Amino acid sequence: MVASRADVVIVGGGHAGSELAFRLRQGGFAGSVALISAESHLPYQRPPLSKAFLAGEITVDQLLIRDTDSYEKAEIGWYPSMTVTALERSAKRLRLGDGSVFGYGKLVLATGGRPRLLALPGAALNGIFTMRAIPDVDALRPYLVRGHRLVIVGGGYIGLEVAAVAVKRGLAVEIVEFAPRVLARVAGPKLSAFYAAAHQAAGVTLRLNTGVDGFGPLVGDPSHVGSVLCNDGTILPADLVLVAAGLVPNVELAREAGLELGNGIAVDQFCQTSDADILAIGDCAEFPLGGRRVRLESVPNAAEQARVAASVLNGAPKAYGAVPWFWSDQYQLKLQSVGLNHGYDAEVVRPVTSEGGFVVFYLKAGRVIAADCVNAISEFNYAKRLVAQGADIDAGDLADPAVELKSLLLTRA
Ligand code: FAD
Repeated sequence: MVASRADVVIVGGGHAGSELAFRLRQGGFAGSVALISAESHLPYQRPPLSKAFLAGEITVDQLLIRDTDSYEKAEIGWYPSMTVTALERSAKRLRLGDGSVFGYGKLVLATGGRPRLLALPGAALNGIFTMRAIPDVDALRPYLVRGHRLVIVGGGYIGLEVAAVAVKRGLAVEIVEFAPRVLARVAGPKLSAFYAAAHQAAGVTLRLNTGVDGFGPLVGDPSHVGSVLCNDGTILPADLVLVAAGLVPNVELAREAGLELGNGIAVDQFCQTSDADILAIGDCAEFPLGGRRVRLESVPNAAEQARVAASVLNGAPKAYGAVPWFWSDQYQLKLQSVGLNHGYDAEVVRPVTSEGGFVVFYLKAGRVIAADCVNAISEFNYAKRLVAQGADIDAGDLADPAVELKSLLLTRA
């Protein structure tokens, strides 16, 4: 048993944790920093897992956020393949899966989340996958064979991105979605309808308003999935299944240690938990934003919270200040979303003739609170600023491509 300690210990070597470690050094932090991760790979980008990495267009090395040398040069202690099993706040130490203990001065929980599993009959059959980490994609990729039937449970971003890669590979792809439209949790009906049509045009079958009751075995191999049983009685033949039914934040360490929780580890705008020596950042953290408490699952949010936590730990706290944004790549469609559309009362569509795309603006009481930009990269930059301003703008102007977004900004700056 090796006992160790660091001035700042970060649990979770994902995007948030690794970004924080380097931000600390950039801000002049001179103490010891340890980054402990349950995964064996150096911190890597997850977004390509359902896009270019799944498609085999990039390698593991290209996923890595930084190489080994960078950690050595920055004197960041990297502890891979180590799971923290308990947090003992009174002794300010962690227990690890191998029985060792790790003391901390300040602790940052950057534990991310895990795919939501379906507690349904047959859910443990082989050939049923989720997608969060490199080994998930390594396991699924050999099944991406022309002619195979892929059923995707869940029509959110990950489900749709995998559908786009798979149908291009010649698989027969069917998406089963409980809601009446795809992307129902994050986007308005106009964007959902656009993406549904794009997938259908590519050959994907959408089965909306449909739940899954279980999975049936393959005839001849009872250990392998052979079908998906829908709640309307339909049986869909399947060679492989992807369950893309959302994320469960990893809050167990915090819960067992008695930290305050909401829909994640509860923190303030400085990423501070209910314990003064513990912060939480990234997908696992629930924080105040725009008058609500939210938990965001995006790389820009992980990066922003890493910046905030580094500022706190470096003694010059700067509160969360970014407008949240997100992207998704499907087929030739680049989606960039900014803001949170909760409570919007109007959707305004603006065509973008130069790039063949469009923008959906979400308005609440006349103010722009969010925007989805499809193949509209320059508009996205203005949309970001309009959302940041909370601009009160005439819907007719927003919808009219002859009225430059820039001019709307300038008149209200
Ligand atoms: P994670 O990246 O989940 O990292 C958490 C780490 O903590 C993991 O390595 C985990 O193993 C480790 N850990 C957890 N518990 C313990 C423990 N007890 N002990 C030790 N280690 C532990 N975002 C976008 O903005 N755009 C996209 O297009 C996009 N696409 C995505 C596609 C996929 C397939 C996935 C899975 C995610 C995508 N995201 C996208 C989301 C984005 O990747 C996440 O928001 C981001 O990775 C969150 O970073 P994080 O560090 O908070 O969590």
